[in-house]
Amino acid sequence: SCADHLEEIEAARHPFRAHRFEAAPLLAGEAQPDAAEERASPSDPSDIVGEVRFASEADVETALTAARPWTASKEERRAVLERVADLYEENFGELFGALAREAGKTLPDAVAELREAVDFLNFYAAEIEKLDSEPLGRFVCISPWNFPLAIFTGQIAAALAAGNAVLAKPAEQAPLVGAIAARLMHEAGVPREVLQFLPGAGDVGARLTGDSRIDGVAFTGSTEVARMIKCAMAENAHPAAPLIAETGGLNAMIVDSTALPEQAVQALMESAFQSAGQRCSACRCVYVQEDIATGFLEMLTGAMEAFRPTEPWMLASDSGPLIDGEAHEEIAGYLEKMRAQDRVIYQSAAPDAGYFLGPALVRVKGIEEIEREVFGPVLHVATFKAKDLDRVIQAINSRAYGLTFGLHTRIDDRVQYVTDRIKAGNLYVNRNQIGAIVGSQPFGGEGLSGTGPKAGGPFYMPRFQKPCAPEPPKSPIV
Ligand code: NAD
Repeated sequence: SCADHLEEIEAARHPFRAHRFEAAPLLAGEAQPDAAEERASPSDPSDIVGEVRFASEADVETALTAARPWTASKEERRAVLERVADLYEENFGELFGALAREAGKTLPDAVAELREAVDFLNFYAAEIEKLDSEPLGRFVCISPWNFPLAIFTGQIAAALAAGNAVLAKPAEQAPLVGAIAARLMHEAGVPREVLQFLPGAGDVGARLTGDSRIDGVAFTGSTEVARMIKCAMAENAHPAAPLIAETGGLNAMIVDSTALPEQAVQALMESAFQSAGQRCSACRCVYVQEDIATGFLEMLTGAMEAFRPTEPWMLASDSGPLIDGEAHEEIAGYLEKMRAQDRVIYQSAAPDAGYFLGPALVRVKGIEEIEREVFGPVLHVATFKAKDLDRVIQAINSRAYGLTFGLHTRIDDRVQYVTDRIKAGNLYVNRNQIGAIVGSQPFGGEGLSGTGPKAGGPFYMPRFQKPCAPEPPKSPIV
């Protein structure tokens, strides 16, 4: 829980509040010196969080040439991954410093990331003994900025557990968090040539995924970039190289007239607005049954009014900022367009400094009106009549995405009816609509939301699948 870490945070305030973090390629061979860039915090552009040196073309070449699979015994691999988990816990103060200042994570967000990362490490460490096949070889892990610790770690832990050499590229917006994580992995005993850290933008990712020497890719990010990687691999990689992709979502929630409104409002506040709505699992559109809509929206806007996006370093912060100026401009521009059409029902206040944006509620007729994922604190709301439930389900399924879905109702038969019909990787009933519960509820989407294998499950460990012996015929064929 957060309280467990409060003491560490108090201690961390001093060393890491003004600390200068650093990220540079961590390679087995010689890295080429390149100019380092300063990174400013998205919540306070005058706060220089640290310096980053992106990987050059030569660094990528060095990493690919030096990459070696992890030949240590299963026991040793397990022990090292468990040691990484311990080091993450021990260094949470430093991790929180970077998560808050570089990625705008509040303390509860950062604690949730730590828990998820530690769960991934321990889960994959424990899976190692079940493995009975060889690693694939050189595995590329490309992560997004919105979970710069948890997703970065989960992808790498799965690939390392299976014995692969990993070439890890963090998102360009949050390489400092990744640099700490990669350093701790090396400190725990992952050899340099087994895990190589290559900070950089899309060009570094494109160089890696377009190289004929790679044996597979784990990618989490937008659907558009997943498509580009698939094309690059189709042209260059060997045909058996897998792409594991976890991508975007257009997630909906249905609230019917029997729902407990407080519970549904709280679920929406957490899902749609925490982390400034920058979670792939975030609810983007809520369908509220018409009979309760007025009271429900009043309760929701009341909660939005009390919601405080502020400097994530402050313990009272409900949400940090958007990740950068580009994201801020895009979402603010979208809201301007909605305001011009008189569709913004409510938007709460946010600080002027940094890239903060107050949570907003936007009226739509149906989710089919939303063309793409709006990756910010914007919740669309539509109402429906009881007789139109099937149309709502159809509208939700008509989106090509299928990541998360939430339902609030007290009718048992309806739970069965709706969840049987909605196409989504993760279904949440009468609770908050968030991400993975590693081990017990692996996370992944359907359709344009991903390739199917789920993070936090055993299917994520890239290795050769043993060909199955054909089943003996049940009765002799004559
Ligand atoms: P993004 O697709 O822009 O970038 C993701 C990563 O891909 C970054 O590291 C980026 O540098 C890299 N990249 C960019 N171009 C590339 C190329 N041509 N070749 C190889 N790599 C390239 O996504 P983002 O903005 O970092 O993250 C937000 C998106 O991620 C949202 O769409 C969100 O829904 C999705 N997401 C999905 C999940 C999930 O589990 N399904 C989890 C988190 C985020």
